[in-house]
Amino acid sequence: MVDTVVCYRAPSTEADVEAIADWLESRVDAAVAVRDRFLDEHRTDDLPERFAAARVTSPYDSDTGNTMLGTIRYEERALENPDREGGVLYDGVQVQRALNAALPPAERDLETLHVAVLDRAVGTWGDHDGRWHKRVNVLGQPAIVSVPGLYEAPAKPETYYKEKQRHALLSGDAPPREVLENQVDGEFLIEDDPRTTDALKGYVLQAYHYLETGEAFCERAGCRLFNAHYHEDLIDAQLRGPAFCPTHAERYALE
Ligand SMILES: [Zn+2]
Repeated sequence: MVDTVVCYRAPSTEADVEAIADWLESRVDAAVAVRDRFLDEHRTDDLPERFAAARVTSPYDSDTGNTMLGTIRYEERALENPDREGGVLYDGVQVQRALNAALPPAERDLETLHVAVLDRAVGTWGDHDGRWHKRVNVLGQPAIVSVPGLYEAPAKPETYYKEKQRHALLSGDAPPREVLENQVDGEFLIEDDPRTTDALKGYVLQAYHYLETGEAFCERAGCRLFNAHYHEDLIDAQLRGPAFCPTHAERYALE
């Protein structure tokens, strides 16, 4: 049974981890604490190398890693100064193992759940379709919650990709946010979206729910524990009421 949840800040992102922790604490039977950036709180000497080894090098190749010295230096700098512009995708399972090894042994038990909110994009390999899939979270110890994953992992409405392609053909670069918001039917979250904090709450709760019950996600669309593959389903699950399906409302709803 989880008796303490420790959530780690992601200062380079829009996520307000204090607000997420408050929301969580009112719903679960555990103490919820907030600490600074995971990668500052728990830094081991081999982390740069482990991040380098976890780099996804091709969307269709399950082998990861580039441990050339230049890459390791890049990872050292990225640990020192968070830089979200890198556009690097990491194997979420390898990163999770590296962060687990960085936890102090006394805090590695399953009564204390660590939730590392990160400014890195993480993915998992799909054996069924032979490619990497970006993720909003990777459940386990520590749980990883990826802020870029919130924007990038679920598929956006089809017209978004069409508009992006059209704009690239016309001007050679990415369309500005206003263009996308005005031209695209359907809803989606984009980088630094003001709804980021609210949308992440359910993903942090999923981490708790998994450790507490062994159940990964809820099958019912619209529930905060639902694993949405499309932005419109994500918005429906995380930002529109009711927050939970009837089963999970019994556990987590406030009224
Ligand atoms: Zn549910």
